[in-house]
Amino acid sequence: MKTPQAQIHFNDQGTPVADLFDDVYFSNDSGINETYHVFMRGNNLPERWAKHSEPSFVIAETGFGTGLNCLVAMLAFKQFRMQHPNHTLKQLYILTTEKFPLPKPDIARALGSFEQLKEASDALLSVYPMAIQGCHRLHMPAFHTCLDLWLGDVHDTLPEWHNPPSGLVDAWFLDGFAPSKNPDMWTDALFGEMARLSKPNGTFSTFTAAGIVKRGMQQAGFCIEKVGGFGRKRDMLIGHYSKNEAKDPINPPYSRYQADAITAKDSVAIIGGGLAGAAIAYALVQKHIRCELFCASNELAQGASGNPQGGFYPQLHAQASHASQIQAHSFLYARRLYDEAVSGEPVPHEFCGVLQLAFSEEVAKRQSNLLQQAVWPAQLVRGVDSAQATELAGITLPYSGLFIEQGGWLSPPQLVQALLKKATQTGLITVHTGTRVNHYEATSEAVAVHFDGQPPKQFAHLVLASGHESAASPALQGLPFRAVRGQVESLPSQPPMDRLSTVLCHKGYLTPAWNGRHALGSTYVKKDLQQEVRVSESEANLNTHQQAMSECDWISALKHDGKARAAIRLGLPDHQPVTGHVHDWSQLRETYAGLGKGKPLEEQAMPPASRVSVLTGLGSRGLTTAPLMGEILASQLTHSPLPLTDTLLQAVSPSRFVIRDCLRNKISDQP
Ligand code: SAM
Repeated sequence: MKTPQAQIHFNDQGTPVADLFDDVYFSNDSGINETYHVFMRGNNLPERWAKHSEPSFVIAETGFGTGLNCLVAMLAFKQFRMQHPNHTLKQLYILTTEKFPLPKPDIARALGSFEQLKEASDALLSVYPMAIQGCHRLHMPAFHTCLDLWLGDVHDTLPEWHNPPSGLVDAWFLDGFAPSKNPDMWTDALFGEMARLSKPNGTFSTFTAAGIVKRGMQQAGFCIEKVGGFGRKRDMLIGHYSKNEAKDPINPPYSRYQADAITAKDSVAIIGGGLAGAAIAYALVQKHIRCELFCASNELAQGASGNPQGGFYPQLHAQASHASQIQAHSFLYARRLYDEAVSGEPVPHEFCGVLQLAFSEEVAKRQSNLLQQAVWPAQLVRGVDSAQATELAGITLPYSGLFIEQGGWLSPPQLVQALLKKATQTGLITVHTGTRVNHYEATSEAVAVHFDGQPPKQFAHLVLASGHESAASPALQGLPFRAVRGQVESLPSQPPMDRLSTVLCHKGYLTPAWNGRHALGSTYVKKDLQQEVRVSESEANLNTHQQAMSECDWISALKHDGKARAAIRLGLPDHQPVTGHVHDWSQLRETYAGLGKGKPLEEQAMPPASRVSVLTGLGSRGLTTAPLMGEILASQLTHSPLPLTDTLLQAVSPSRFVIRDCLRNKISDQP
């Protein structure tokens, strides 16, 4: 969902001022010195980093504004890493919230005066997201920083954050316009959330010394100290969280963190050499975790990720449903990752946009409703008439439609190779092709993975990510997977289709030509695991296109020379993927059986999960969802901050089917 953007002007000193709050984003005297004084020194940074004994450090900020505080922290962290290359602390997370994001040109102007921040602000501006509510995870590898920009009111975002068992936040940058100008932000609810999310001895600092903040923070459990403020401000507040309690998960059945984190000492086995396996492998090695990936075929990406071209776009609804929020955030995250992973690698792709055609009255109505609701920014999806559609496509299209400018197509097999090549360059992963895992044995300590004709190997954790083959795993019996056969045609290009310059979608899809061929798909045949190419499905694919686009004079001339590919996709009844821990499902069912009788969720302690997790069920949308789902799982396993709201995490949790059944009081052995 779109968020309102900030309206600002620049005062005589060149400092940005918010029109709505009539307050400056940073001090007129020197924004950068103010950040150092109030937030860095106020939290004893960077000195504390040198004494930190964990692999990551988490800063959380209220009010991202221009990003100045974040950039200063990132830059200092880069220096810290240069000075201490072998230090245990390797990664900075900054979780920052913003209710009114600044338009990018305003950020560029506001930061433009800080010459010393140029490298950091260029990095920020290159990934600065569009104004959609929720978490935008921005990786800044040059600064060893992961910046989570949470768009929305801090009162809505903080309650969605999960606590790892020992808490989440090491240091708070309590920013925001002055309490007198922005009283709605400085509430006891905010201070309470800060307490809930603080690690024992987590610190905070703020530019203000207002009584309401001092009393509120004290009441929430922080020890407070008044110290000298910056510039004309006499005083400011610093402090630390004084309690040392275990942190309860906010939503036990969907709890993401197990008692033990996977650390750099551990090694994780991944089964699956397609997009899901590559996504989790890529995410884990970025978090400095060693992995071994096992792919049964002699080559990678031979299953559902094996088509030469795949459309890349989010499926959006007129309302910001959970499904379309997951799609929008997955898509934006994947696009950023592909920009990075694809650069310099031979991955055939074109971010040429995706045109969803209004090929029937019903679809036209649905599309016009989506545009009227205006839930999504035009940067993500915009309406086009038939003349604009024709121009975008380079081929006559007598249809209006929706245009997703940042979408396009990629070649999944080469993408998988590129992701694993980049992962391998870290020296942290070994990829074994032609290695079929026979079975595994998981105890509470480790997982033994057994192969045909080779000795077993021990791992700290196992990720099942081999699509429909994973579904056969005993640990996943109890999840309502649906295998669906899909056949995609490979058509020789010919005029005028050879001019097609964007992906076309209707009931099916048609890509621009690559290597003289177009992909045209796809059939969906339920409960069919055969993978041979069928003439009947080629005809069905062609018919679908010719009927849906019957008003295009060129569509009846499509030629087919018998080339096609069929594969099995794995989906779930609610069309969402699964990413997360595997449980003993009958134990989970027993634990939550009372839910249908009205027992609150929180009352039942979550049974511990196994050392096995799963990432699958990507259906035909793996290009869109795999990267974010992999990042979620890697964050969960390493006890790092999670890049999605709790509400959306529930929608992709493997536990959701059991919990929903229990809520419906439908207790049986079968899902
Ligand atoms: N830290 C910023 C920087 O480095 O540029 C400056 C922050 S500025 C003083 C305060 C920020 O808090 C503004 O961007 C404002 O839109 C944001 N803000 C105000 N109320 C908020 C709320 N309830 N939730 C989230 N952000 C809020």
